[in-house]
Amino acid sequence: MNDELVAPVTPLTPVTVIGLGLMGRALAGTFLKAGHPTTVWNRTASKADQLVAEGARLAPTVGDALKAGSLAIVCVTDYQAVHELLGASDVELDGTMLINLTSGDSAQARETARWAEQRGARYLDGAIMGIPSTIGTADAILLHSGPPADFEEHRATLDVLGTVTYLGADHGLASLYDVAGLAMMWSVLNAWLQGTALLRTAGVDASTFAPFAQEMAAGVADWLPGYALQIDRGSFPAEVAALETDARAMAHLIEESEAVGVNAELPRLFKAMADRAIAAGHGGEQYPVLIEEFGKPAADG
Ligand code: NAP
Repeated sequence: MNDELVAPVTPLTPVTVIGLGLMGRALAGTFLKAGHPTTVWNRTASKADQLVAEGARLAPTVGDALKAGSLAIVCVTDYQAVHELLGASDVELDGTMLINLTSGDSAQARETARWAEQRGARYLDGAIMGIPSTIGTADAILLHSGPPADFEEHRATLDVLGTVTYLGADHGLASLYDVAGLAMMWSVLNAWLQGTALLRTAGVDASTFAPFAQEMAAGVADWLPGYALQIDRGSFPAEVAALETDARAMAHLIEESEAVGVNAELPRLFKAMADRAIAAGHGGEQYPVLIEEFGKPAADG
């Protein structure tokens, strides 16, 4: 054999995964499959059995797990659990690279970043939009925020987990994008359920309405970039329709819902917001002017 023809193999980055619930096991399993030396730790050690059988190393303590990898991913129930785990007196954070993929809010992310950095750790926050079975595929969206150099250093390693996105230096951004995505998801689903409830009163089943609803949702989605420009400029000329025209159509939706006996709470809610904007003098402007209603606390607190 000619040794000169054998390309040198660059060893893959050793990683640590702390927290082996449904999501943590998917993360660790994906690193293992990709060939990364993988150390794991979980409060309930038995949840590591399958991963150990597949080649993971089970660390005896959190501190030992943190020392094993070039980066340590933490994925547990909530930030309280993160603090309980990493704040224990025998855990040394100095010199570690932490990537916290636990779900939480932006204030928790920023506070945890400060807390970890004061103890000498480097810290990226993150959020996962996807279910465990999607981890390792493009369908898993992993959002990250924190120091750009730390993200760039570990990007190639994180890439094996799915579609990995960097959002900016503010540690709170991953959580904010996460909940903004949830706002999109539930708003579209609730609107579709409202329409489905209306049509079912006339014997139209959900499957018949679904393709029409899909086209509506895609059509509305096409408006977003143009409407976003209006919001960013703070100028809302009624190029398509004035808000007061939309408000009249909202009244039809409420009346129709009440007449056929379906729930009218959702349309009443967005009509109330439109009415407040109209009362404030915005009736002749275009729909995105409602950002001013969305950008402040509700009238009732
Ligand atoms: P899970 O199956 O309920 O697992 C929870 C994990 O947290 C377990 O490893 C548990 O340890 C650990 N834990 C909880 N409290 C702890 C404490 N005080 N000290 C040490 N460990 C503690 O939850 P999961 O589905 O893996 O979710 C983990 C995170 O991913 C959550 O923030 C979740 O919102 C997020 N996420 C999950 C999904 C999903 O579809 N599953 C999707 C997106 C994001 P034990 O095993 O010892 O109980």
